Amino acid sequence: MIRVALVPGDGIGPEVLREARRVLDAVQEAGLAELEMETFPHGADHYLSTGETLGEETFVRLRDDFDAILLGAVGDPRVPGNEHARDILLGLRFRLDLFINLRPVRLRAPDLCPLKGERDIDFVIFRENTEGFYTGSGGVLREGTPGEVAVSESLATRWGVERIVRAAFERARAEGRERVTLGDKANAVPHVYGLWRRVFGEVASEFPDLESEMRYVDALAMEFVRAPERFGVVVAENLLGDILSDLGAELVGGMGVAPSANVNPGKHGLYEPVHGSAPDIAGTGRANPMGAVLSAALMLADHGADRAAARLEAAVDRALAEGVRTPDLGGDRTTAAVGEWLARAVID
Ligand code: ATP
Repeated sequence: MIRVALVPGDGIGPEVLREARRVLDAVQEAGLAELEMETFPHGADHYLSTGETLGEETFVRLRDDFDAILLGAVGDPRVPGNEHARDILLGLRFRLDLFINLRPVRLRAPDLCPLKGERDIDFVIFRENTEGFYTGSGGVLREGTPGEVAVSESLATRWGVERIVRAAFERARAEGRERVTLGDKANAVPHVYGLWRRVFGEVASEFPDLESEMRYVDALAMEFVRAPERFGVVVAENLLGDILSDLGAELVGGMGVAPSANVNPGKHGLYEPVHGSAPDIAGTGRANPMGAVLSAALMLADHGADRAAARLEAAVDRALAEGVRTPDLGGDRTTAAVGEWLARAVID
């Protein structure tokens, strides 16, 4: 039994999560996994009507009563400061110590790739999710004056770097991938990325069966475009991983199909499509639910339901091949039509 907390959130979040839920119901109907699902109302509406972003009681429930959280998207123009989104998403990432942001980069249909020629792209990005420039360390002096000074500090701990680098190597071994690549900028920022290189080298020596390499991130970005086939697992510090992840997503179809997982293996996981709440298309039926469905597949795989995960992935591949697509991918189907098709494909 996998206990899943559904947090639809804002904008297209509830629309894509409705379809992910439909597909998960189909997974149960097909006897592929047993799930217990509960929906949480947290998002902009809830915040605007109650003043609560997440709330301690809810946080404790999400932490203690569930195996996984499946989130739609948070972000709403009526909350310009985005404080609810910060508390929900960043709050959960930091407080649950979800140190791995995992993004598969897999080409599921040839026409989704903007590169020339036949491509076979299938790698995974491990972005460190709790350190780097994202801890808020630093400050501003003399704000708004000509003498203004701003400092942002990037923070790396040996412990924090080691745990994600090791997780990247373990994943590569478990999935039979040959190569682990580190993306860094040790030539220009030697302190933080020097630590990354030392730790990466040490951990690599524990995995002699795997190839390992360290690449400056600028060269790595070029190689993502020139030869994406050569990557297995790519691991990087928070900011660099953030940028590489979006480049990776664009290589294989963009926002609509990109899933992600924020995990602390064996403890907690928050799964979400890469896209945001996309207020420009909310309520139009144009949102692609595949990113959410593939995020649900990542969740199932992490909780031992490998067959169910494989069925979801196969359903998405078939939908793409048969042209069952929303407008972002050149199709004319609605969000619900794609979700219904996927749910049927899971049961068939
Ligand atoms: P954020 O919430 O991250 O600040 P956002 O909500 O403004 O960003 P995104 O959702 O990241 O924007 O996506 C940018 C644009 O891509 C959207 O405005 C929308 O037009 C398109 N888009 C995003 N997700 C999808 C989707 N699932 N299906 C179709 N189009 C999408």
